[in-house]
Amino acid sequence: MSYTALYRKFRPDNFGDVKGQDHIVTTLTNQIRHNRIGHAYLFCGTRGTGKTTVAKILAKAVNCQHPVNGSPCGECEMCKAIQAGTSMNVIEIDAASNNGVDNIREIREEVAYRPTEGNYKVYIIDEVHMLSTGAFNALLKTLEEPPSYVIFILATTEAHKIPITILSRCQRYDFHRITIDTIAARLDELLKIEGVEAEEKAVRYVAKAGDGSMRDALSLLDQCIAFYLGQTLTYDKVLEVLGAVDTEVFSRLLRKVLQGDVTGAIRTLEDLIVGGRELGQFVGDFTWYMRNLLLVKTSGNPEEAIDVSSENLKLLKEESEMVDVETLMRYIRIFSDLSSQIRYSTQKRVLVEIALIKLCRPAMETNLDSVLDRLRILEQRMDERPVQQVIVQQGAPGAAGVMGTAAGKGTETMAAEKPEKAAPEDLQKIVASWKVIVGQTSGIFKQMLQKSIPKYNGQTGEPILYIEFQDFLGKTYVDNPEAEEELKNIILAQTGKSVELKMVVAKEHNHTNLAQVTVDQALRENIHMDVVVEEDPDDTEE
Ligand SMILES: [Zn+2]
Repeated sequence: MSYTALYRKFRPDNFGDVKGQDHIVTTLTNQIRHNRIGHAYLFCGTRGTGKTTVAKILAKAVNCQHPVNGSPCGECEMCKAIQAGTSMNVIEIDAASNNGVDNIREIREEVAYRPTEGNYKVYIIDEVHMLSTGAFNALLKTLEEPPSYVIFILATTEAHKIPITILSRCQRYDFHRITIDTIAARLDELLKIEGVEAEEKAVRYVAKAGDGSMRDALSLLDQCIAFYLGQTLTYDKVLEVLGAVDTEVFSRLLRKVLQGDVTGAIRTLEDLIVGGRELGQFVGDFTWYMRNLLLVKTSGNPEEAIDVSSENLKLLKEESEMVDVETLMRYIRIFSDLSSQIRYSTQKRVLVEIALIKLCRPAMETNLDSVLDRLRILEQRMDERPVQQVIVQQGAPGAAGVMGTAAGKGTETMAAEKPEKAAPEDLQKIVASWKVIVGQTSGIFKQMLQKSIPKYNGQTGEPILYIEFQDFLGKTYVDNPEAEEELKNIILAQTGKSVELKMVVAKEHNHTNLAQVTVDQALRENIHMDVVVEEDPDDTEE
């Protein structure tokens, strides 16, 4: 016995079985019942929403000898012949492969002959947007004066590519993407008929993965059933078969992104790839996850709007507290752009990595929402920065820029003492690469370093690098040999300089001679680095 795919086996053969397109079904059955059938229909909508299925039912209904409430009876000669694909009255054309003028001319010649049996000749032209301009013109001539016994049904996923002259002669029907509820209900029905046990959560997951397309959902269900033939279909099995990722991983990834931890985010991606996850699916699922977060954040009762277990909802609520709406919208935008790019790319992984870096580093983008995200980060830093230390020294020598990531303008400096000696060149080199060095640390240590100011002894000019934490939490790293070692190694790798360093917390230490390390213009030009993030806008031309 040969196996028939579910979507073929359960393809609706009357209007009553068509799911999720009630607005279309009602209009069409009314037309048939009152004998007000049009001569040209345009069916638009994404794949798998039932365009050709409805076209075939319509073809049967108009030819049926005993239609029941506008639906084909399925019993008469005509219904059976059309169902079996042997009727001469229904002509299906795939415009993707028959898109020339000659193909349409052929139709025009055929159209001249009345049907030998039944009432209507129905031409179903699928993917009609693929027709050439010449072919459209030829089609237009037929549509202008169609014989009374001819019906054209044009189906397309891309209505905007259809010439307006054609559009104006058709009744247009927009097929909706089918909701998860509708798809899930249909899957449930079919599973019962097939005698397959399945968890509700598993069915919902498949319905969601169908992404508005009944056909896709049925194909996915087919895969899952085939893989675990004779067994109950559980949520875990579905995740396994569809290569889907569990919420826990998304949550881990999001936290890395929010911390700006590029390495951590990429490592999480690596784990997913090693685990055999399909990247296209992952991108879709992560976007969906962020969409859920957004709903949790903005909706009063998210339980109704999103479809997750109660334990996952708890996690989502926790996470939604960590991120603001604008940031989430930016993330979702980047990932939905990614999902369209990734489809035909051979470098899927690189694209996903770039997207993750974009999430971690809003500074890489120039549009409004990324600017808002940058502003958020800046404001956060401003809040954390001790105000009394800012002394404005207009035009002070050597105060060309504030090093590190402290948010300051070019004319401000944090220096409290006037240094007698300039910092040794080695320290200047280290500070010139400070951002890069800090970027290689991680976690709280990194956050503390981002808010630190590299200093030196302004009186002696001795080659000791003082790292002055502006946040008292930095205290954990004061006299901490492990942290010192880590930082020293990074500095060595980055600059080739081995340096003595000492970490202190601002206001708690008594090194009164400390001065901020400023970098000579000459040195800065030599290093060619993005030294200062937040310069006075007048100084930069970006
Ligand atoms: Zn019939």
